[in-house]
Amino acid sequence: MKKIQMVDLQSQYQKIQPEIDAAISEVVASAAFINGPEVKKFQSDLESYLNVKHVIPCANGTDALQIAMMGLGLEQGDEVITADFTFAATVEVIALLKLTPVLVDVDPNSFNIDLEALQKAITPKTKAIVPVHLFGQCANMEAILKIAKEHNLYVIEDTAQAIGADYTFSDGSTKKAGTIGDVGTTSFFPSKNLGCYGDGGAIFTNDDDLAHTLRGIVNHGMYKRYYHDVVGVNSRLDSVQAAVLRLKLPHLDNYCSERRKAAKYYNQGFRSNPNIVTPVTEKCGEICDTCNCHVFHQYTLKITNGKRDALHQHLVDKGIPNAIYYPVALHKQKAYQDERYKEEDFEVTNELVKNVISLPMHTELEKEQQDLIINTILDFIQ
Ligand SMILES: *Cc1c(COP(=O)(O)O)cnc(C)c1O
Repeated sequence: MKKIQMVDLQSQYQKIQPEIDAAISEVVASAAFINGPEVKKFQSDLESYLNVKHVIPCANGTDALQIAMMGLGLEQGDEVITADFTFAATVEVIALLKLTPVLVDVDPNSFNIDLEALQKAITPKTKAIVPVHLFGQCANMEAILKIAKEHNLYVIEDTAQAIGADYTFSDGSTKKAGTIGDVGTTSFFPSKNLGCYGDGGAIFTNDDDLAHTLRGIVNHGMYKRYYHDVVGVNSRLDSVQAAVLRLKLPHLDNYCSERRKAAKYYNQGFRSNPNIVTPVTEKCGEICDTCNCHVFHQYTLKITNGKRDALHQHLVDKGIPNAIYYPVALHKQKAYQDERYKEEDFEVTNELVKNVISLPMHTELEKEQQDLIINTILDFIQ
């Protein structure tokens, strides 16, 4: 049996090694490292895949969020609502831009932003909502769009963990995650579902004016060479990364289905244990074979008998990788504490940080590996 890894990028690479090596060599030989043709080609391929008018590549997923907020013209003091249970990048850029982050609780089943908490947090100063499609599953976008419309708010989708996921509206129509709100952002960090071999990110929008603004911001605020109309940043996807991403993009649907297959196998394995809660999809309840509503960036269990930390240690001792995403609620992080927050408003997040545990999840998991993981956990949590 191959050594179990949290994410097995080597095995994934080996399957497409000749193409990848050739593409990287070509970029190196051409010396078009920055703004080379590969970047434009990947941009256009991704626009087609996502069925979105504009993809603006940039340097990473955190920049993508920051640039999206800059492009929307959000100003100091504007309140931006996001989930308390997510990676810090989301709240970090809000704070960096001197906007006011407003963290709200999440739903205990989907781990995504709680709609009631979201509505309660809206004030006259609220300008935007940042739903994070956590662990690979879209937030309830239909409801969020409705709330946003009522209150005239921008919706910025943090799609770093959910690229490739489909969101189905109640009329049966679907859209790709990240193309539903005013603007979507993603990360191509190596371990993300569509990962490059370094850092990378992108912004998506169907709004022509916003796309134009964003293309200037990523390039020092330049719309004409050496004329700087707005304060911008330097945030580029380099050509080597674009070449890798362009080769991996046609595999993304297969990568998503491999992840879903592995998630389904885990779910079956843990089914009968009363102290283990397996992930559910909001749309189908179970993990169905056809729809792409959850792309399992992470496979995250809830351990309900108080033994999460003991399980974590047990798995470490047995050489089985695992991770706690996330161990501290954002509203409790030193950097993001705010006296306006009340503990009773974060009941779910406060509980999740104590009982979640994420298991190895990637495109190359083998049944044999999963059996060992499942049995080791079942032996410990009874
Ligand atoms: C990874 C991630 C980011 C940041 O992406 P980087 O490319 O690492 O900057 C932002 N938001 C979420 C939810 C993420 O998981």
